[in-house]
Amino acid sequence: MRRRFNYTDYLRSPEWAEVRRKIIKRYKGRCAICNGPGEAVHHWHYRTLGRERLFDCALVCTSCHSAWHQRLGAEVRVD
Ligand SMILES: [Zn+2]
Ligand SMILES: [Zn+2]
Repeated sequence: MRRRFNYTDYLRSPEWAEVRRKIIKRYKGRCAICNGPGEAVHHWHYRTLGRERLFDCALVCTSCHSAWHQRLGAEVRVD
């Protein structure tokens, strides 16, 4: 049986903090799209949620992030 995954709780977990820290380091704190200051970690997909590999996510700035999500539409959730 699969445990239900609570995304909001996960974003507050030490596991996520560690993943996030590695992603920020990998992108050297820069937005993957415009090279500005990176602030948000974007998930390319949610298939590995809770066990993300570095290439499942990207560091982006808040404006690129919201532009990205507007383009993707409602299919993608919060992050
Ligand atoms: Zn950007
Ligand atoms: Zn995102």
